[in-house]
Amino acid sequence: MIAPKGIREQEKRKLEKERAETLAELDHLREYLRGEVDADAEEADPDIYEREKTLALIRTLEDKLASIEQALRLADKGTYGMCERCGEKIDPARLEALPHTTLCVRCKSQMERVAGMRLGPWGR
Ligand SMILES: [Zn+2]
Repeated sequence: MIAPKGIREQEKRKLEKERAETLAELDHLREYLRGEVDADAEEADPDIYEREKTLALIRTLEDKLASIEQALRLADKGTYGMCERCGEKIDPARLEALPHTTLCVRCKSQMERVAGMRLGPWGR
């Protein structure tokens, strides 16, 4: 594979690592949910609260995965590190903390307000 110009390989590697970790965690959580549904008859009293918590976590991780994949697409286009919405450069400290982010702080908080109205905290 030839890396297009403009990609900083290190950043891409970081994103790919994050994606692998997120996928592994999702697998693990889904496995856990499945196990609770059809396996162990001994544990006849499934903990609804734990289950809800796991589902919420899965949704959060799915969102994160979508962001990581989007960030990787941007890396391929060579526009990683720029806000998808307003085109401003994203604060490097923010990218360091959240490598999968594709929005600057300002746009992100605006989007979160919109998403929050639709889904509420934790999707409910
Ligand atoms: Zn922005």
